[in-house]
This record gives sequence, structure tokens and C-alpha cells, in this order.
Amino acid sequence: MTAVHSTCPYCGVGCGVIAGGEAVRGDPAHPSNRGRLCSKGAALSRTLDDSFRLTEPLLGGVPAGWDSALDHIAGRFADTIARHGPDSVAFYVSGQFLTEDYYVANKLMKGFIGSANIDSNSRLCMASTVAGHVRAFGEDVVPGTYDDWEQADLVVLVGSNTAWCHPVLHQRLQAARAARGTKVVVLDPRRTATAEAADLHLPLAPDSDVAAFNGLLVHLAGSGALDDAWIGRHATGLADALAAARADAPCLDAVAARCGVDPEALETFYAWFAATEHSVTAFSQGVNQSTGGTDKVNAIINVHLATGRIGRPGMGPFSLTGQPNAMGGREVGALANQLAAHLRFDHAEDRAVLRDFWQAPNLATTPGLKAIELFEAVADGRVKAIWIAATNPVASMPRAGRVRQALADCPFVVVSDCWPTDTTALADVVLPAAGWGEKDGTVTSSERRISRQRPFRAAPGLARPDWWAFAQVARRLGWADHFAWDGPAAIFREHAALSARANDGCRLFDIGALAGLDDAAYDALRSVRWPLPAGAAGEGGRLFALGGFPTADGRARLVPVRAPEPRPDGAFVLNTGRVRDQWHSMTRTGRVPELAAHTPEPLLSIHPGDAARLGLADGALARVETPEGAVVLRVGTTHAQRRGEVFAPMHWSGTFASHGTVARATGAGCDPLSGQPGLKSTPARVAPLPAH
Ligand code: SF4
Repeated sequence: MTAVHSTCPYCGVGCGVIAGGEAVRGDPAHPSNRGRLCSKGAALSRTLDDSFRLTEPLLGGVPAGWDSALDHIAGRFADTIARHGPDSVAFYVSGQFLTEDYYVANKLMKGFIGSANIDSNSRLCMASTVAGHVRAFGEDVVPGTYDDWEQADLVVLVGSNTAWCHPVLHQRLQAARAARGTKVVVLDPRRTATAEAADLHLPLAPDSDVAAFNGLLVHLAGSGALDDAWIGRHATGLADALAAARADAPCLDAVAARCGVDPEALETFYAWFAATEHSVTAFSQGVNQSTGGTDKVNAIINVHLATGRIGRPGMGPFSLTGQPNAMGGREVGALANQLAAHLRFDHAEDRAVLRDFWQAPNLATTPGLKAIELFEAVADGRVKAIWIAATNPVASMPRAGRVRQALADCPFVVVSDCWPTDTTALADVVLPAAGWGEKDGTVTSSERRISRQRPFRAAPGLARPDWWAFAQVARRLGWADHFAWDGPAAIFREHAALSARANDGCRLFDIGALAGLDDAAYDALRSVRWPLPAGAAGEGGRLFALGGFPTADGRARLVPVRAPEPRPDGAFVLNTGRVRDQWHSMTRTGRVPELAAHTPEPLLSIHPGDAARLGLADGALARVETPEGAVVLRVGTTHAQRRGEVFAPMHWSGTFASHGTVARATGAGCDPLSGQPGLKSTPARVAPLPAH
């Protein structure tokens, strides 16, 4: 087989791979990984087993041809819209989508059906970062690049187990440490593999991140480390942000007590940050998956704006995206509160640009339902038809038991996926989707780098790409002329042209330089970072090098944020997250023995002192109960866990474990700005499983 250059389908690092022959190997020429792969990427070839794939459309569980299935979907959606209005239908899609899939589904729902009820599972991943970026910068842009990590003298990792969740970036950081002595500080409640490797670990109490960064802002002001000249030219809001920070941080000891950390260690972190101009602060789900996630993001950005540490090599706040194409979804507006190309619902001129470009007869004018709200609307009957694609919400949404019941009761459910899942089991129509190695399109990584995913094998049976299925339904709904692409290259050209049309001179997302790619040039496209406006060549330039933020006055905003009240003592806090070698609900990774070997079963991590107090021995079964539901897990005691907190991995679904998903027990409280659920700190009761 000819070697094909593609992109890993797992995390937001976006590593380049070369597929061909027996193995998938790292692409030495790809700038994200320079040949490196992690354990998941290295095992990609072992996931290409078609034995468990969905290979034909199913109507009511019975094999049907594509025409029958698509006619049925279009008929049921048209009927539901005619009887109950456009907001009675919804799409729930995924950061596993390629940008082209995302673009088509979003155009259909927001431009033609006339509702904004399309949300992505990226809502569970980085919606708080999106909201924080817009508040601080005026647009959802990640300022930095991976190279900045290697050019920094201090890298602060907040709520990020980079060693397991973004492993190749962690490898790059470790290489930089060896070469230049970069210091690494980790702020995380757990002593993770990343914390083990760091120079300093601050095991923060849950949801005390804002207090920690407000304390840092106060320390910077008190130690003369603010860059008043830069702030004067490029930012506003320092006085208010500092006043809020001072209210949270009257003294270092108070901050240390709130965060539950050693004051000396906290002071060391503050001193290192104050003294180190080239500082990167990277954050991930421990920040985003919180009921105060947006405030956490802005508390982090505030310290970079206050020191002018942004827009230059080796510095800046940096959001790590979880999924391979979370960023691509943000570009095409696949979150319910976004429009395509970073256009905004609350600007009439933006809506006019999109209506004109799409020739959209029914452009949605207000944001739709965010993921948690969306499934609540399914549960209470407002949404009567839903199409779920490339995601398994019955295993991953908080209050998963309620989501399962909602879908079971929903009048019409379509699910597109590569494999049978907990969610396909509830579908009226199941569509077989083409998967990684079969699909053709683009993804965008955490550093705004667009890379190609290229096919190197035939899709099994009748499996087809997601963009094609959505376009086919659009055609059947009467909009054939607007959904007439002959392949992903044509969709990408339209997406790129829209980004250029949308740019009003200040918006940063613009890939107009790629709008003229013909099919051959699209096929050959090497990875590039945006922005790439028409006429630009090579890599997208550094953002904010000269200030110039996409706000009305061109300045970034420091946002005053306050730490939430600490939780009352007594209840345990249930934290959920990932293990090194599994991915999401394990549909792709769960059947690969060498990946399963790293963590053979989901353990409830608990401090030995807590376990002894509760009478729980290592290996015993414990019941974890929250107001949302309960789950039974085997206990694994570890000093990596803070007292009063337990941790359970999120991956094991009903397909892979008899106890079902831990998401049955996670809370549905959301960040009020971003709508992202707080999956890291659900109050819980933990007890030995009663003997029967
Ligand atoms: Fe894939 Fe992420 Fe591993 Fe890179 S770091 S090989 S993108 S899972």
C-alpha cells in the first residue's frame, strides 16, 4: 500500500501520521509531533478491525438501504418541523467530526432548518475556554503555539494531566526541559503522572483555581511585576480585576488555606512566575469542566495580560483542546451559541453576512440549546427529533441515566456511528459512518493548525462519510442546490471563502488564502496554522505580536473574577477523567489488548486514610452515590489522591463494563456563561458495597 500522510484521530495535539503497510507511524515532517507518537497513536493500526463495525443502515433495527433510511429521516424531520416548528428538532455532533462534516451539519440546521439547536460534545470539553477567550480577547482564539512551550523558561499546567492526555506535547516539553532547564509547575488536585514529573506540584482543592490565580495577580502587583506600559497600550480592566483578586487574596496564607496547599510551595510558584518573563500557562479539562470554568480561564488570562506575556515567543495562556477537531468545530460554529466563521448571533450585520453567503432562507437568529439544555429538552418533550452523530451521550453526558431515558422516550432518534454503542441501541435509525482511515477532510489542532485526514482504506460495507449523510437529508428537504458538493474539497473551499467574507478587518479567523485550492491542491495540503487571509503564504503569523485585539477598542480585557465559596466539609467530591490508553467511551480503543493492559479496569482512586475510615480495602467494591445516580467500582487506594476526594475514569460504558458509565453519577450543574457541565467535583457519598 502507498504511504498516506494523515492526522491522528485522538487528541487535540493533532499529530501527523503515516499509514501504509502493517503499522501507522509518526510523520517526521509534521510540525506537531516531528515523528513522535504516544501509545494510542502507535496502536492505531490495531484499531482497524472491521469485525464490530456498523456496515449498513438500520431502520427499526432492520437492515435498510441508504435511500430508505435517508427518505425516512427527511420525512420525519420535515413532519416534526411542520407540526412543531424548527426548534423541535436538534443535532448533537462531535469533536470527532472533520471540519467538513461540521460545516455541513451546521449549515443545514442554522441556515436552512432555521434553528440553532446543534451542539457538539465539545461543549463538555472546552466551551468555558471559548467563553473566556471571547471575554478577554473579543474572539475565540488561542494566542500561542506548541513552539512557545519549547521556548518558555516556565510552563504552568493547570488541571491538565498532559503526560496522559496530550502525551506528545508532554514529550516535547520534557525534551525542552532537558535542553534548556524549563521549570514546570502543575496545579492539579491529583498527583498525576504530569505532577510526578514536575518541579513543583500544588495539589489544589477542587475549584480553588481562581483563588490561586487571583493570589498570583495580587503577588505580581505587589512585587512590581506588572507591565504597566504594555497594559496602558493594549489592555483594560486591571483596576477592577485587581480589586476582585484582593478580595479573594488578602494574604498568601489565606490563599494557601483556600487552595489547601502549603504556603511555601505557593509562594515558590508565585516567585517563579513573577521572575520568569517567558512563561506559558496551559490548561485543560480541570479548568474547563467546572461550574466556574469561564472565570478560571479568565483568572489565568488575567495574569498574562497584566504582565504583557502574550504575543511573543515562549509566553502566553494556552488552552489544550481534548478532541482532535474541537477547534475545527469552533471555526464553523458547531456550538449552539456560535455562528460559522466566528460570526456572532448578537450582531445583525454578522447574521446578514451569513444569510447572504449561504443564501439561507431560514437563518437562525438566536442561540440554540447547549448540550445539557438540549437533552433536558428531549426529556421534557420540546425536542421531538434528534440526530446524534459520532458521539455516545448515553455513556458520556452527565446524568447519563436521565439521558438514556430521554432518548428512549423521544419520538424520533437517528444515530450515526462506526460502532454499536449504548446510544445506537436507542435509535430508530442507525447510520453506518465511515471512520478514521476512510474519511477525507481536515481537522484543526489546539494551536490552530489545520491538517488533513486522508483515506487509506475502504469503508466497510455501506458506511459513508457524515457530511454526505447530512447533505443527502438536506437535499431531500428541498435544498439540493445549497448542498450539492461533490466531495470534501468543495466544502472546504466554501468554508474558507466564508471565513474571508466574514472578516470585517478585525476578525482573526480567516483562511481566505485556502479558498482557491483546487481538488489536487486540497489533497496535497500541508498542515498550516491560521490566520491565513487571502494573499498570505506559509504559516499563519503570531497573534497579538503588536497588541491589536479583536475588540471594539483593540484592547484585551482583564476580567474581574471571584473564587467560589469552598464546599462544606463532609461529602466526598467525585472527580472524573481519563486514563492514558483509552479514548472516550472506548469504541475505538477498548478492544485492543495492548491498550487495555495499561488500565485493565476502572478503579475508584481514594486516599488510603479515607479508605481505612470507610472500611474499604484495596480491591473491595465501593458504591459511589450522588444526587444523580450511583455506580459501583473496585477500590484502588493511592496517596496520589487528596483526602475527601475520589477519582473515577470516564471511559467504561455499558458496552465494556457491567456497572455502566460513571457519567450516571456526575452532576449536571453548568457554568452559567459557557454551559459546560462541572464534571470534576460532584458531591458524593462513598460506602462499601453492602453484602447481599
Ligand atoms: Fe494522537 Fe494525541 Fe497521541 Fe498525538 S498525542 S499520537 S494526537 S493521541
